[in-house]
Amino acid sequence: MLLSGVLRALSEHPTATQVVFYAVVVGGLWIAEYRLTGQNIGRKFRHTAFNSTLMLLALPAQLGMMTLVLGAAYWCTAHKVGLLYLLPFHESAWIRLGVMFLVMDFLDYAYHYAAHRIPWLWRLHLVHHSDREVDVSTTFREHPLETLVRTAVLCGWVVLCGASLQLLILRQTFETIANIGQHSRLTLPERPARWLRYLFVTPDMHHAHHHAYLPGTDCNYGDVLSLWDRLFGTQISLRPDSIQFGVDTHLDRDGDLLALLGLKPASEVAAGRGTQV
Ligand SMILES: [Zn+2]
Repeated sequence: MLLSGVLRALSEHPTATQVVFYAVVVGGLWIAEYRLTGQNIGRKFRHTAFNSTLMLLALPAQLGMMTLVLGAAYWCTAHKVGLLYLLPFHESAWIRLGVMFLVMDFLDYAYHYAAHRIPWLWRLHLVHHSDREVDVSTTFREHPLETLVRTAVLCGWVVLCGASLQLLILRQTFETIANIGQHSRLTLPERPARWLRYLFVTPDMHHAHHHAYLPGTDCNYGDVLSLWDRLFGTQISLRPDSIQFGVDTHLDRDGDLLALLGLKPASEVAAGRGTQV
């Protein structure tokens, strides 16, 4: 009942319902992080305020582009456009959901890999990585231009797959909750984490991706499923106490909003990367 109510609300008022829904999830985890990990409350507030500033700067792009993405999904359904319509048994919503989830998760892995390999895209993506105190608020820390690029790419994936509005919302909701959990400081006990990471990207896996030094930064690109990193040899496991969050070339830039946004002269900003630790 609760799930069907949430799904109905998400379909009828997708943007507003999602903002409220995610705010509740993030707020709950933020409090749990503070209570269970003993973080300094003043420092946590300042850190969240900085990440929220970046999130608010990216919000117009996020909302505008998501409207475009949802419109693309509506158009695909109306005109039966996309690879999903070529599938045998594509009338089954479960088959369409399963295939769409798998294909879009792989495409997100490929996009994330590209974001670490293409210099101009990495310059945008490092804003997310430059956080030296990763927690739930890091989930939404992004350069506004990366928000534009990432959601434009998502729009392309939607048209390629032919995702319907409902399936897309279901997938995006699951993906966002997984992303929020991956950034959380609330890591799982080793035994359940070991089982879970056969299928999903767990917080400890994603924390290793936020390690400041190579090869950690350039591993564990997975979005929801851990399958792609295993398949393409990009999986890494780091001891939690060995992980230092941030980017080696920008360790002194976390908190420097203008430098992170690229609004400071290039001469004042460090370039290049590649330290192996
Ligand atoms: Zn990354």
